[in-house]
Amino acid sequence: TNEEAAAKTAAATADTGGPTIFDKIIAKEIPSSIVYEDEKVLAFRDINPQAPVHVLVIPKLRDGLTGLDKAEPRHAEILGQLLYAAKVVAEKEGVADGFRVVINNGAEGCQSVYHLHVHVLGGRQMKWPPG
Ligand code: AMP
Repeated sequence: TNEEAAAKTAAATADTGGPTIFDKIIAKEIPSSIVYEDEKVLAFRDINPQAPVHVLVIPKLRDGLTGLDKAEPRHAEILGQLLYAAKVVAEKEGVADGFRVVINNGAEGCQSVYHLHVHVLGGRQMKWPPG
């Protein structure tokens, strides 16, 4: 069933704390389509877009943030910077008046890359509840 397939995918993507594909994107060892970049934050297009605009916003330094569940008080500043960058990305992409910000967390939350990232989705009508 679809549920079984999703459960298998989730089980295969538990948080190991190891390096992720995003390290190579940050190091520019593999190409990405960068939308916004500053000292702390990188935003690039999702390789498998789920909307006309689908950008991932990540901290350049993971600093233990494999997922939002690992957030500590010391991460408050970068968490704010990520959310602010999400807004800047929405403006740059021309969807500031209608967009969605998503953080998938953990296997049941359908997280597949264990380097915290904020999805910015826009350019089509969103539905609620999300799947
Ligand atoms: P999540 O499932 O929330 O962990 O999101 C991870 C996202 O990373 C997915 O939407 C993938 O499509 C995306 N992704 C994986 N590899 C790459 C890559 N090399 N470049 C851009 N996006 C990627």
